Amino acid sequence: GKGWYDARVEARGPIPMDPASAVLHYGQEIFEGLKAYALADGGVGLFRPQANAQRFVTSAERMSMATLPEGLFLGAVKELVKADRQWIPTSTEGSLYLRPFQYASEAFLGVRPSQEYLFVVIASPVGAYFAKGVKPVTIWVSSDFTRAAPGGTGAAKCGGNYAASLAAQAQATEHGCDQSVFLDAVERKYIDELGGMNIFFVLDDGSLVTPALNGSILPGITRDSLIKLAEASGRTVTERPVSIDEWRVGSLSGRIVEAFACGTAAVLTPIGTVRSHDGEFTVGDGGTGPITAELRQSLMDIQWGRAEDPFGWTVRV
Ligand code: PMP
Repeated sequence: GKGWYDARVEARGPIPMDPASAVLHYGQEIFEGLKAYALADGGVGLFRPQANAQRFVTSAERMSMATLPEGLFLGAVKELVKADRQWIPTSTEGSLYLRPFQYASEAFLGVRPSQEYLFVVIASPVGAYFAKGVKPVTIWVSSDFTRAAPGGTGAAKCGGNYAASLAAQAQATEHGCDQSVFLDAVERKYIDELGGMNIFFVLDDGSLVTPALNGSILPGITRDSLIKLAEASGRTVTERPVSIDEWRVGSLSGRIVEAFACGTAAVLTPIGTVRSHDGEFTVGDGGTGPITAELRQSLMDIQWGRAEDPFGWTVRV
């Protein structure tokens, strides 16, 4: 009943918590991930933080949580970046990763939405995702586990989705893979996304295809940015369901020559090999394709302020 109150920046430390806090029992929790960059001109930039603020509201609504106004989300993130400015890496491709999150802090054991929430932002400097140069990853097709069903919480960025994905990630590791790719929960044949990244296919005519948002795919901000960037450079981008069989055969409306995963952490990661219980196949020549590399460079140049930002994506702190 008090609205959002008592905002402050303080040194990181433990958060006192009642053992009956609703989040510990029913998982009412959401989070975001974004980065602050040391820009080429010496300033500090956030990449499309309004999009994170909006997705945070959508996630809160799905999880029946109090929503945080966009202005408070942005204000909190900016205050923390100002306080932690000295930790923003100036090395190429380093950044300050920001993790806003919100959880049900009311202490009770009945099953109902909490009436109290805590919103927190923590930060951590991160180096280049590929310290030794971009390297294609091998991914595991998760046919034993799904991540989220329609009507479920897939499109919300809530902790429970990630809890559900951990067994698949462990299986991926057992099979020598870097990540797992999840299939849709209904027909179990359409490609949704990776555990923490969306996916794109590059066809031999230079066009792009990405799975259409279906209620269980997280609407990634990198995904949206790449669609806009590719279209602005004259490429066709089609959002439609893509089945694992189509990928295995390597053919959509054209031949699949490259595939990549994308998200805030790695920007773009080329996918070299796809492994499953049925065997494995190589994507294109298994290396980093030229269009993957080009899109990666274009997006990173905007994020680090090395190129013009025609979309007005960077928000200066
Ligand atoms: N899918 C999932 C499941 C994710 O966790 C992420 C990372 N937030 C993404 C896709 C990519 O989203 P974004 O580009 O906004 O980081």
